[in-house]
Amino acid sequence: MNMDTSRTPLRDESESSLVAELRASLERANFFLNGALGAVINMDARGHVTGWNPKAERMFGYSRVHAMGQDLADLIMPPVHREAHRRGVVRYLQTKQSSIIGQRAEVPAMRADGSEFPIEMTVSALEQNGTHYFCAHIYDITDRKRAEEGLRIAGAAFESHEAMAITDAQGVILRVNQAFTAITDYEPAEALGQKMSLLNSGRQDAAFYESMWECIRDTGGWQGEIWNRRKGGMIFPAWLTVTAVKGGKGRPTHFVGTFTDITLRKAAEVEIQQLAFYDTLTGLPNRRLLTDRLKQALVGSVRRKRSGALLFIDLDNFKALNETLGHDKGDLLLKQVGERLSDCVREGDTVARIGGDEFVIILQDLSGCLSDAAGQAQLVGEKILIAAREPFLLGPLSHHGSASLGVALFNESQDSVEELLKRADLALYKAKDAGRNTLQFFDADMQSSASTRAALEADFRLALQENQFLVYYQPQVDTQGRMMGVEALVRWLHPRRGLVSPAHFIPLAEETGLILPLGDWVLRTACLQLRVWAEHTSTAHLTVAVNVSARQFHRTNFVEDVLRVLDQTGAPPSKLKLELTESLLVKDVDDIVAKMTKLKSHGVGFSLDDFGTGYSSLTYLKRLPLDQLKIDQSFLLEALTSVHDAAIASAIVSLGKSLGLTVIAEGVETKAQRDFLEGEGCVNYQGYYFGHPVPVESLAKFFLSGSAGKTDD
Ligand code: C2E
Ligand code: CA
Ligand code: CA
Repeated sequence: MNMDTSRTPLRDESESSLVAELRASLERANFFLNGALGAVINMDARGHVTGWNPKAERMFGYSRVHAMGQDLADLIMPPVHREAHRRGVVRYLQTKQSSIIGQRAEVPAMRADGSEFPIEMTVSALEQNGTHYFCAHIYDITDRKRAEEGLRIAGAAFESHEAMAITDAQGVILRVNQAFTAITDYEPAEALGQKMSLLNSGRQDAAFYESMWECIRDTGGWQGEIWNRRKGGMIFPAWLTVTAVKGGKGRPTHFVGTFTDITLRKAAEVEIQQLAFYDTLTGLPNRRLLTDRLKQALVGSVRRKRSGALLFIDLDNFKALNETLGHDKGDLLLKQVGERLSDCVREGDTVARIGGDEFVIILQDLSGCLSDAAGQAQLVGEKILIAAREPFLLGPLSHHGSASLGVALFNESQDSVEELLKRADLALYKAKDAGRNTLQFFDADMQSSASTRAALEADFRLALQENQFLVYYQPQVDTQGRMMGVEALVRWLHPRRGLVSPAHFIPLAEETGLILPLGDWVLRTACLQLRVWAEHTSTAHLTVAVNVSARQFHRTNFVEDVLRVLDQTGAPPSKLKLELTESLLVKDVDDIVAKMTKLKSHGVGFSLDDFGTGYSSLTYLKRLPLDQLKIDQSFLLEALTSVHDAAIASAIVSLGKSLGLTVIAEGVETKAQRDFLEGEGCVNYQGYYFGHPVPVESLAKFFLSGSAGKTDD
């Protein structure tokens, strides 16, 4: 290669590379200028446009050609701002200091079509060889301004009177407003970073919150009443709205909870309720609420097969008191009467005041048997009469009064509310007629059964003291009719009424607890008999079955009591059989099994009485250390005519066998029944066919003949 021909002179060479470099740098500058995100505008010292990039064309709507040489202020600024801009440029040129140079400024701008919009403009200045150049970088900030404004509005809304909390998707609080702090007492710093459960009152269970979140998941929100807790621990009712804020994929990114404290509203509601349904003087339910409750009580009584009673109470001579002592004393009395009445009843009962001196009580859940229910109502009624006779303190005065009381019972029959109120009212009239300070039933039968019962209870206590009870024995025989043992059945030899059946007094004895001394006495008597029999070979094999009622069995010392009686009488424990009923065995199985096991370890046997009438499950039966099942006589009555009952009787026999228990049938009245049972494999019987319950002396014939058949008593 020839160096001389290929080389250009040095000067030419450096000049042309300079030009090339300049051109390249210009191209680069243009490239950046054109690609710039904002408008880039160059100006001379007078502020006239010397450069106008494509973004500026689009932003302001003037072509480059149009813009070049124009005063920038005239071109893009609304008229009112132009002068200020021009002054800023002049001041800069004179002092090198101006607020419009080198600073980012937000100013209004105007497009070619006259529309205004906000821009952010930064003007920089350059001085070269005494000449000034300006360059403005301009961004359209319409969107930003709009977003900021939205935020400002949202912020203002956020600071409303409703408490607000914004949480992330996990329920962690990100922001709360002032109302939140005002209502909950939690400062923002205390609440942020916590979960919303910060406010949980504990009054709603987990299921409540679960269903709330389920609703939010399904519908995007939830609204309702909720109990919240303030920082100090005080609980308040709130009306809460939760809204899920969903992100791009439809998943909630935030939750917004707003709530108001509705304590006042609730209080107003309660007050309205109170006015509508309660008597203002005594605070007791008024007639309206009473009617409502009575309706429910009637429905409940039918459903639960229990009776109830409606008591009408009227103060004797209240009018006179009101007139002589004045209404304020009268009011005082009514208040105290209301309190005393409430003290006389159980929690579920209703005491109402329906006007003047008239009070009404609904007693619920009384015995399903009407005459027993009458007795129970009578007890409460008498308590009330006594309470009404206690002196009342009316300021400095002590007032003695009394009340009259009418009772109407209700049970499964479909009585109407009106009918019942009428009946109780009529009964009250009867009581007033009868000379006040008394109680009358609407129903004459109830009246007599209630008084009979009251008399019976008094008699019963006396009978215990005076030893009016007897034990009768009913034979239990095998297939040959040989007496293997007896069931002890108590009798009451009433001085006036004669022999009273236990069916009449055992329920009363259980209710009053008098079954405990009575049961002890029967057991002791039966054991003394066992002791006597044990001494003779002809009777030593005999067993005695003793009925044990629930109250006796569930007594803590039941086992010890039985063992003590066995010990004191010297009766052989293996000849004693305790008859339990299924109803007795339903609660606290472990305790029952423990008691039975303890007694069994001493040789005492157990028979399950009235079997087939209860609801024992097989697995349950298996747990009990029983020796015998006693088929209830109700199956025998029908066994020969009803396929169904025959099937049950036969099933009980095989069930007993499979459990390793003996089976005895009670209430066997005919040969046909006995034969049927034998055919089913049942080999033990008890019933009138073999012998009635009799005093022990009358059993002698069984020992003599050694067998039983149809007896003549
Ligand atoms: P229960 O334990 O089911 O006693 C059997 C009842 O059936 C007895 O009635 C008995 O006289 C009667 N009976 C016996 N054979 C026949 C028969 O062939 N046909 C008919 N129709 N009835 C027969 P009682 O003596 O009136 O006793 C009634 C219930 O009183 C007994 O039913 C028992 O639950 C209870 N009871 C009796 N004595 C006592 C006792 O000392 N303590 C406890 N807690 N309850 C007792
Ligand atoms: Ca029995
Ligand atoms: Ca029975």
